[in-house]
Amino acid sequence: MSKNQDVIDLFNGAVMPTYSPAIAIMNGKGVTVTDVDGRKYYDFTSGIGIHTCGYGNPAIVKAIQDQAAVITHTSNLFVNVPETALAKKLVAMSELGGKVFFANSGAEANEAAIKLARKYGSASGRYEIVTFRNGFHGRTLATVAATGQAWCQEGYDPLPVGFAYADYNDLESVKAAITDKTVAIMLEAVQGEGGVTPATQEFMEGVRAICDEKDLLMIVDEVQTGMGRTGTMFAWQGYGVKPDMFTLAKALAGGLPMGALVGNAKVADVFTASSHASTFGGNPVAARAALAVIEFTEKNNLPKRAEEMGELLMNALQAKVDEYDKLLEVRGKGLMVGLVVDGDPKVLVDALRDMGLLALTAGGNVVRFLPPLILKESDLEDAIEMISDALENVYGTAE
Ligand SMILES: *Cc1c(COP(=O)(O)O)cnc(C)c1O
Repeated sequence: MSKNQDVIDLFNGAVMPTYSPAIAIMNGKGVTVTDVDGRKYYDFTSGIGIHTCGYGNPAIVKAIQDQAAVITHTSNLFVNVPETALAKKLVAMSELGGKVFFANSGAEANEAAIKLARKYGSASGRYEIVTFRNGFHGRTLATVAATGQAWCQEGYDPLPVGFAYADYNDLESVKAAITDKTVAIMLEAVQGEGGVTPATQEFMEGVRAICDEKDLLMIVDEVQTGMGRTGTMFAWQGYGVKPDMFTLAKALAGGLPMGALVGNAKVADVFTASSHASTFGGNPVAARAALAVIEFTEKNNLPKRAEEMGELLMNALQAKVDEYDKLLEVRGKGLMVGLVVDGDPKVLVDALRDMGLLALTAGGNVVRFLPPLILKESDLEDAIEMISDALENVYGTAE
């Protein structure tokens, strides 16, 4: 018996079965994790897009340790110094000239964006938000309703109303979804869970133009794309299209739970005293970790590394697509990469894990790679070797 199996059995006996973990991870270092049996893996999931700066990053560890010894929580009845510094930094980085609201997760940051949009529209009787099929915005009732995918809505009726779904990368479909009740359009710059589909340049610009024309708020969900993953600090910067609001979470605080809603001047003061809140929002330990993440990301120019390594990974995968009939397409942006397969992607994800490489599925037929952005070329070469071996095991030797 493996220790992995023992721990998984304990887990399954005590934790509600919303997940089905295949291994139990003991620790992480850089771009690798080690399971309870002592087996080491390249982690091309980054804990689902979290560890952009690598596991056990000394600067992040130190920030967390230092702040934990100073104070771990103040409540928002008092000014919290690290939160204030982080807000100032996010506002400066975004160049949107606005303000920040802090939450504890991606869903909560999006929930805040949805509430803010409704408050903004309430004077004119507008509340509807256009979201996208194959999008993903979280698991609270409102964010599930915002998520245009049946699999995560099933069994949860009645869902909050006020969402209309349009087709991604299809401006005509967006126009058709807009009514006189519409107040906002909410989208990912690269759809992550839905299948690693980047927005086209034309689409991002078109959404911005529609929002300008109809006084709608453009909300970009950067929970997965943010903090350098797609080649710019925030993915919308890569398009040169400024949203009215965007949300961050996954990679923001280097492994600690934190979400943020960043808005421009137009929305900066829509929330008023007591109109929205979060007890833990802006937690000082998470805020110090986030400041360390940002400093490390900027100092090491991780967005540029994401772009360069992403190109190498996508080229290597494209070569495999050319070899194997069962591989259909490579798509993505930076180190957010999807390999579209003909069939169930889980088969390949399992084979990759057997080889020592952790990857994710997305959108029903996509193997998704979200490696730490500190990835070195030698790590990538090892990983590509593992991908070659896994493909051979699953699909046989290519012609
Ligand atoms: C993961 C994700 C969320 C949800 O974040 P949680 O922290 O799990 O609530 C929302 N939007 C996008 C784009 C995501 O990838």
